[in-house]
Amino acid sequence: MNKITILGSTGSIGTQTIDVAKHLGLEVEGISANRNADLIIKQYYEVKPKFIAVTDKEAADKVKRALMGEDVTIIDGKDSAKQLAEVTASDTVVNAIIGFAGLVPTLSAIERGKNIALANKETLVSAGSLVMKKAREHGVPVLPIDSEHCALHQCLRSCEKNEVERLIITASGGPFFGYTKKQLENVTKEQALKHPNWSMGTGITIYSSTLVNKGLEMIEAMHLFDFPMEKIDVIVNRESIIHSMVETVDGSVMAQLGASDMRLCIQYALTYPERVSGISKKLNLTEVGKLTFFDVDNDVFPSINLARRAVNYGGYSTCVYNAANEACVDMFMQDKIKYTQIFDIMDKCVEHFKGGQSEIPSVEEIIMADTEAKEYCKSLIK
Ligand code: NDP
Repeated sequence: MNKITILGSTGSIGTQTIDVAKHLGLEVEGISANRNADLIIKQYYEVKPKFIAVTDKEAADKVKRALMGEDVTIIDGKDSAKQLAEVTASDTVVNAIIGFAGLVPTLSAIERGKNIALANKETLVSAGSLVMKKAREHGVPVLPIDSEHCALHQCLRSCEKNEVERLIITASGGPFFGYTKKQLENVTKEQALKHPNWSMGTGITIYSSTLVNKGLEMIEAMHLFDFPMEKIDVIVNRESIIHSMVETVDGSVMAQLGASDMRLCIQYALTYPERVSGISKKLNLTEVGKLTFFDVDNDVFPSINLARRAVNYGGYSTCVYNAANEACVDMFMQDKIKYTQIFDIMDKCVEHFKGGQSEIPSVEEIIMADTEAKEYCKSLIK
């Protein structure tokens, strides 16, 4: 592979993907942002892409003015990331957009036969059955960038599917590990944004603190590896050194370990099935000293059980789970709701929309479910 396109290049995963692409000597053919004009202009001079997509109109105008006369095509507007996924001739599209907005560009890239390196877990949580069906039809691999799924992917290389008993996803436990329900009631944004081990974008840092991120990851794993939800578990590894594990039927457990550095996962997705020398931090186990493990407190953090319920409801219920999370985190970040209301509103929303859905919802049904679920969540606080 020698050409990639990065959707969401200005984000945490996007910027690290540029580092990895430079290290691997890959051509970056396209990059995209929502509204961060300054950074995408800087990235233009860094990697000289042929295409830039910017969603926000004002930001796109700024980019056009700054790059006037340069040999680059600038695409703007709501569908710009989708158009970029279609127009490039890249072998691989890295999807590092945050949120539901990543779904349609992923589908477009698959339909044009491009390999997918997927950080945007919302794609699979919202429409996993549809996306994986399309990927199979077009013979396109979907390679995970999420560290837990990258770990599972590596562990699964050592055994056959019928030899696997359980997928075990690890969680750091987040900044509120050990808190009681009462203690959670008054936590602030600032506290929620302090992830103990990883430096990530704002959205996913909050999702990690509520453990909704683990619910999203379980659903993501279910689709990626075609594995039943009841055989996917979560365990807390406070140090985030074990990124996930696979237990085989004979009781063996394979784990993937590494430093907390997403560039390892990004590189793995871009070089798979090969491995080459990398730029990510190396793991020093004697510095780590010890690893500690705990069960998740599902009473204080109901997010994982709600994800299981959404999977059991079927149809677009997992899309509703994701939409409710996005809406609630927005409202929490705007001080419209308290932290613990995230759990209550998500629960009400998943229950409200359950039942009567098609087995593999169409993209139109999924988009409608996302919009309606977000509206419903907002209506609950009016
Ligand atoms: P960031 O918030 O840091 O970056 C998001 C990127 O998406 C930015 O380029 C942003 O543009 C762009 N974007 C935001 N909204 C839209 C939109 N509506 N349309 C088009 N582009 C948009 O996110 P992260 O990099 O942290 O996360 C990206 C994805 O990777 C998420 O799905 C997350 O769950 C997943 N992930 C992230 C990890 C991490 O370490 N960060 C680890 C594992 C998974 P702009 O900069 O202009 O706002």
